[in-house]
Amino acid sequence: MVGKCKLCLQEGVELRMSHYISAAVYRTLRGAAAPGMNPNPFHVSRGQSVQSSKQDRASLLCSDCEQRVSRGGEDWFFRNTLRNDGKFKLLQTLLAGRASVHQQGVPTILYEANLFPEIDADALTYFASSVFWRGSIFGWNSDGSVPVNLHGYADQFRRYLLGERGFPEKASLMAVVRPPGSPVDKVIYGPVGSSRGGNSYYRFPVPGFSFMLMVGPKLSERDKRYCLVRGAGRPLVVTTIPDEHIFREARSALGFHD
Ligand SMILES: [Zn+2]
Repeated sequence: MVGKCKLCLQEGVELRMSHYISAAVYRTLRGAAAPGMNPNPFHVSRGQSVQSSKQDRASLLCSDCEQRVSRGGEDWFFRNTLRNDGKFKLLQTLLAGRASVHQQGVPTILYEANLFPEIDADALTYFASSVFWRGSIFGWNSDGSVPVNLHGYADQFRRYLLGERGFPEKASLMAVVRPPGSPVDKVIYGPVGSSRGGNSYYRFPVPGFSFMLMVGPKLSERDKRYCLVRGAGRPLVVTTIPDEHIFREARSALGFHD
């Protein structure tokens, strides 16, 4: 399909089919299921089910921009996040290193990515931003609505992803590393959230991680402190706290009600 690339804005270019969440997440997860089990990861989208290999795709980017997005963050991310064979390189790196805050009896450990040369915080930021941004440029929801509203900041994200500017100043990104072992290890869904008072809050889980994006004029001190981009030392939080939330959201998307 020929059209206008949503990232570089070039007109009359051949557009590639882009996945909402990278095809790599499916490659990372597929296969090696127990006999009789569906080998595909849980994929949940608003208002519909299910565990399937259906991939949400749309013609959005030119081939240069598709490659730009892969190289900018996806490639590194999928080499380092939780894989189907249980390997989780990034978590192993963190656990072998020094935690910055670790309280006895509290299931949350704070690390500073800057202390780990193996950790590419820029790639993590780029990957998560590309998913939130893609959520803002197409009607991925089952009713055709656009899931993410970045208000007046969508173009700043576009230019950041294009390499023309830094990460938007009025945004804060939190990266939570989720140790495996929970029933929602493999749950994936596109960003959900809301915008109120001019601020937007969105989040999405992928195996090994949960990302949260806050955008708007009124970011709280907490939002800023835990920001992977501008927080001191580039914080990474290791915790299972989002798992319960992800479980509830996945259940409700599948039509269960408590
Ligand atoms: Zn392009």
